[in-house]
Amino acid sequence: MEKTGVLYAGKAKTVHTTADENLMVLEFRNDTTAFDGEKMEALQNKGRVNNLFNAFVMKKLQAAGIETHLVDVLSDHESLVRNLKMLPVECVVRNRAAGSIVRRLGVEEGAEMNPPIFEFFLKNDALHDPMINEYHIETFGWATKDDIAQMKELTFKVNEVLKSLFAAGDLILVDYKLEFGLFEGRVLLGDEFSPDGCRLWDANTMEKMDKDRFRQGLGSVVESYMEVGRRIGVEF
Ligand code: C5P
Repeated sequence: MEKTGVLYAGKAKTVHTTADENLMVLEFRNDTTAFDGEKMEALQNKGRVNNLFNAFVMKKLQAAGIETHLVDVLSDHESLVRNLKMLPVECVVRNRAAGSIVRRLGVEEGAEMNPPIFEFFLKNDALHDPMINEYHIETFGWATKDDIAQMKELTFKVNEVLKSLFAAGDLILVDYKLEFGLFEGRVLLGDEFSPDGCRLWDANTMEKMDKDRFRQGLGSVVESYMEVGRRIGVEF
């Protein structure tokens, strides 16, 4: 599928249009950012690793009955996806405390969240992605009550599938962020699932193997993403 133009360039991915208005090419770049773009670096091989990692996970989710935008992998760093009308919210599930919940609520890093915690954030860089709730989403028209219910149901379903997928590789799925969009009236999983948007800890050593390595300057960022991928069966 030929690219016909750039629709949108985000911080780590570029979305290209194609001749078919229902299909787009998602390009995974090496660019890596943290702290609202304050920290920025191109990490060799990250685009390819995240493209292959994402496709592997999306296929697992599809096999479990969760509809996603992924159609096919086109090249090392590009995938063909359905053109979703994205809902401007981020859905986060936390199985353990880490990151912003530790800072916001003073809970201890690593504490188990039972039941897991669900949080909505508004996707808005200028406002620094503030936390919102279902009332904000409905009242400001970012999604309908039904879309909200489906996003929550699908995000928790993803948790069940991925917690066991990663556990089989001796990894703890600490938390993750998902984005959804509408396609022919249905709510589909969009964006990406890769170590850029989740936290994964080694179950034995508790070593961080996700984007926190970049945020915290721990080094071996892409190497850790590949190690996680290999443990769950991704072929790089
Ligand atoms: O920063 P916070 O702890 O709220 O992030 C929760 C999870 O969502 C983390 O896995 C983080 O990588 C992911 N996230 C993301 N993109 C954002 C915000 C959070 O991928 N804009």
